[in-house]
Amino acid sequence: MTPTFYLIGAGPGDVELLTLKAVRILKESKVVLYDALVSEDILALIPDHVDKVYVGKRAGAHHLKQEETNELIVEKAFEYGSVTRLKGGDSFVFGRGQEEIEHAQNYGIDCEVVPGISSSLAAPTLAGIPVTKRGINESFWVVTATTCSGGLSKDLTHAASSSATIVILMGVGKLELISQLFSMYRNEDEPIALVQDASLPTQKIVTGTLGDIVEKANEKGVRPPAVIVIGEVVKLAEKQSLVSMVKNSI
Ligand code: SAH
Repeated sequence: MTPTFYLIGAGPGDVELLTLKAVRILKESKVVLYDALVSEDILALIPDHVDKVYVGKRAGAHHLKQEETNELIVEKAFEYGSVTRLKGGDSFVFGRGQEEIEHAQNYGIDCEVVPGISSSLAAPTLAGIPVTKRGINESFWVVTATTCSGGLSKDLTHAASSSATIVILMGVGKLELISQLFSMYRNEDEPIALVQDASLPTQKIVTGTLGDIVEKANEKGVRPPAVIVIGEVVKLAEKQSLVSMVKNSI
């Protein structure tokens, strides 16, 4: 029988933000290869008899290279008849999911993708920031700050010169460069937010302006993983706390 590769988006971390389909496949899995951004609570859903293999990336810690992960997917798929890959957020949003699919397909493996809630949407929402608001903006852009070569993405310049809400991933280490770049195109008072560990008990939200965010981030000790949100809609975060409203009502 042809083996199957299940590529599952785990969402931002809160186990309740997994899809029902993801939970079903995890419970039926034979082996799960998972990333650093997958939370302990989510891993706890996987039955004990299922083989769990950590392949994730965490700064400084040992992890497999992408090519090694691709090989492992193929190896486990043929060994077990199916293999499940669990990635943070959505696998196709800066997640290298397509590379894994292509590699598996080269070996004739059937592939199924389950979308996950990307941190690019969950982080602003959980901070009370609507990425769009009628009358304020006409689009929101999701940009990586860090390109394959480690440099600052040129798309950030286009983003800065637009009037869109900008959501930046992998940008905490480049916050100073980012705020300087945006200050060249937008007002120094432009609101900006950092949302660290969105949906997890350690979630931290820091809001400010392009002019003062670096200082505030240092004061509050913001560290990855965090999403940066830039635009007028960030002001709304300071007026509402949607997360605690939901939690208090349970
Ligand atoms: N595929 C993932 C993104 C992977 S890139 C997704 O769709 O969410 C890794 C980046 O995602 C991090 O540098 C950070 O910017 C962001 N990120 C992932 N999980 C996060 C979380 N729980 N809170 C805040 N940012 C997160």
